[in-house]
Amino acid sequence: MKTLQELTRPNIWNLKPYSSARSEYKGVTASVFLDANENPYNMPNNRYPDPMQWEVKIAISRIKKVAPEHIFLGNGSDEAIDLVYRAFCEPGRDNVVAIDPTYGMYQVCADVNNVAYRKVLLDEDFQFSADRLLEAADEQTKLIFLCSPNNPTGNDLNRAEIVKLLTAFSGLVIVDEAYNDFSEMPSLLADLDKYPNLIVFQTFSKAWGCAAIRLGMAFASTEIIGILSKIKYPYNINLLTQKQAMEMLRKYYEIERWVKTLKTEREELMKKFSKLSCTVKVFPSDANFFLARVTDAVAIYNYLVGEGIIVRNRNSISLCGNCLRVTVGTRMENDKLIEALQQYNKQV
Ligand code: PMP
Repeated sequence: MKTLQELTRPNIWNLKPYSSARSEYKGVTASVFLDANENPYNMPNNRYPDPMQWEVKIAISRIKKVAPEHIFLGNGSDEAIDLVYRAFCEPGRDNVVAIDPTYGMYQVCADVNNVAYRKVLLDEDFQFSADRLLEAADEQTKLIFLCSPNNPTGNDLNRAEIVKLLTAFSGLVIVDEAYNDFSEMPSLLADLDKYPNLIVFQTFSKAWGCAAIRLGMAFASTEIIGILSKIKYPYNINLLTQKQAMEMLRKYYEIERWVKTLKTEREELMKKFSKLSCTVKVFPSDANFFLARVTDAVAIYNYLVGEGIIVRNRNSISLCGNCLRVTVGTRMENDKLIEALQQYNKQV
């Protein structure tokens, strides 16, 4: 791996971060706060939240078995995706490599930041080859994006290939584990100490049932976390989000129950979906959604919209011709989808 200084944009490496009122004192038990130009009325929303979200990070740390200093919290994982570009990729000069198809925000953030985005097509089993990604990389490649389980294909990426890439690539490897809770594959978090160039993304938006509060997690070396923390907005995670996250972390057993239920429902729904006459193929899934090839994705998507049922039409995405991506819902929602498609099949 190159040194972190070599990988970081020089202006970011040399940046003196904004020092917020709330981060300038530490370890003092204060009761009079006249430092941040807040309104003394309307407790508790009158006060700025903890800029480093230590209480939340400590609670996450207990569940994820990762020290709080290795955790960055963002306004969704989407904030972390944007920040890795801003920290490591010089606009108009550096590039990143990513698998294709995958989550669309990696490319959107590359385009916003004027960073070249090099796509390497997955194979017909939606797997990648470390060698092919490395071939696409050059001296200016700072980041490689992987997503496992991958969106929209739903499958875990081959672990041996991920490890090969982590060992051979001189830049940073991001593994987005937004859907890992639904997979039998262990998270890469346990290997964080082994690979100084690894950044793992997870989120409160999926298994945790908290897409509305916008809370994403990045796990990496303390040095990488330090750089991301330096360039984030000072109070990027608001108080209401921090409070709701604490409540969810206290009832982690609930999340484990949801995951178990959704995995059972996934198997049930995929079995029923594969028996429909409009289904060509249901691809295996390690996530809370699955990809299916159907006879006519556009027609079926439009028909379902007419029935008030929304799935994701992935027809125009690489390797996903005539494919729909279906999220696993409640038993009742899943049954409605199957019934609607049985009706569709009677009409055509
Ligand atoms: N990563 C992947 C792979 C996703 O599919 C999504 C959302 N669809 C995200 C990240 C975004 O997560 P967040 O809500 O935390 O921004």
